[in-house]
Amino acid sequence: MSFDGGVAGEGGLCITLESETDLAGFRRAARRLMADGVAPDRVSWQIGGTATNADLFESPVNGAADAIDATQSVKGDDHSATPREAPLSVPRSFGKLVDSVGLHVDRSRFVLLYRLLWRLQHEPALRGDPLDAQWIQADRMAHAVRRDQHKMTAFVRFRRIDREAGQAPLHVAWYEPDHHIVEATAPFFARRFAQMHWSILTPRRSVSWDGSVLRFADGAARDDAPDADAGEALWLTYYQNIFNPSRLKLAMMRKEMPVRYWKNLPEAVLIDPLTAAAHQRSSAMIAQQPTQALRTIRRLAVSNPPMADLETPHRSLPALAANASLAERAQALGEIRSAASGCTQCPLYQHATQTVFGEGAIGARWMFVGEQPGDQEDLRGQPFVGPAGQLLAKALDEIGIERRLVYLTNAVKHFKFELRGKRRIHKTAGQREAAACLDWLEREIALVRPQAIVALGATAARAVLGRGVAVLRERGRWQRRADGTPVLVTLHPSALLRTEPQQREHAYAAWLADLRIAQVEQLSEPPT
Ligand code: URA
Repeated sequence: MSFDGGVAGEGGLCITLESETDLAGFRRAARRLMADGVAPDRVSWQIGGTATNADLFESPVNGAADAIDATQSVKGDDHSATPREAPLSVPRSFGKLVDSVGLHVDRSRFVLLYRLLWRLQHEPALRGDPLDAQWIQADRMAHAVRRDQHKMTAFVRFRRIDREAGQAPLHVAWYEPDHHIVEATAPFFARRFAQMHWSILTPRRSVSWDGSVLRFADGAARDDAPDADAGEALWLTYYQNIFNPSRLKLAMMRKEMPVRYWKNLPEAVLIDPLTAAAHQRSSAMIAQQPTQALRTIRRLAVSNPPMADLETPHRSLPALAANASLAERAQALGEIRSAASGCTQCPLYQHATQTVFGEGAIGARWMFVGEQPGDQEDLRGQPFVGPAGQLLAKALDEIGIERRLVYLTNAVKHFKFELRGKRRIHKTAGQREAAACLDWLEREIALVRPQAIVALGATAARAVLGRGVAVLRERGRWQRRADGTPVLVTLHPSALLRTEPQQREHAYAAWLADLRIAQVEQLSEPPT
């Protein structure tokens, strides 16, 4: 039987499905046709009046063909009667195939599906035949639909529209799927963005979510979607920051993010200029000699106790009097920094480039504590100079916290990573590593004497407060350390960078709100 062959000739039936995605109607009609023993070449399918195989079945009602509306219930023996549903035995995988192939944009999909169903009943060997042409075609179509769904979940970009006071902002996205996947994919967005009110507009179908119900409507035009917004600007800044010219793999990038999706991706405008400049930027990175692995930096001798002795690792460093002057404290901090540069208290020193100690002035008003240096911090020997640091700097700028009043440091002073190929992928520091570093942090706190500490993320919060902290539950309110210093816990900036683009704007606003609590706290001027 050829897939293209067959004519709904005399006695042919035209099945009308309610919509492009009326898979329930297809199932209902197919069961009835099978029960009536109607061979596939007698059946044509149409969607609300559009025949699915127009050249073959253009005018099925030519006096000879019957018409069935699959959306109506039918009774009795003729085609306006209740279907005699045959107890069909089909593999479960065929049901899944219908769910995907039925959403394919190819108008002959229902012809193909009904043929396969018919053949499954009449040619049992078909089930195990991986070379059957119709089976292969259906598999390909299913694959294309699933891929389209996957791409939609990855490439939809919302833009925010502020509405009247008291109404939640609406997030609107324009997207152009290849297949009829909007209804099938919408539940993903409802789960993922359950708190937001959003609409996804597409040429054939649109969907909205108001926090409780998904509503579908006709297609829309691209102009119905809003222009770029502030959240998008933030996303572009982030994209620019994470774009590493030395890791540019255009072929891979095009495979994951095919060019035809670019027109609706805000970051696509950056791809050409960034890739054009990639060669120059990576040459410049290579030319930056000081960023070589600086293994000699940390060779200052510090005792190297076994891991078991980590509770009080740096007992040998001198304590400072409580009334020490600023100059004495600054000098002591310099000594501690030198000592830390040779720290071998835990195994992390073996692979990191160098110790990354804190930076800022003695007497800084705020101390921000992160988890550990990242790839760029490790190379440059300074905390918070990579993408997370840039986001933090942007946030501090926005809320008016001056950099000169901030001391930046980390709970762990060496970069922990695993190698994947040539890439150094961040690994969260373990509690033992944090414990090994705790004494450095305590000394920084004791010498800087900040008026408030902001702990960024769980590792920092544990180190600063001395107990496990559920960041999401405890974020955004003041707590106190045993020494009385106020501590505010909030998310680490990397967590924001990892947030889905659609949620990033919200997450960033909430993070700024946390940080503003640190900012509005009535803190006196720092001592000079
Ligand atoms: N993340 C941190 O926690 N600290 C840094 O210094 C950089 C990234």
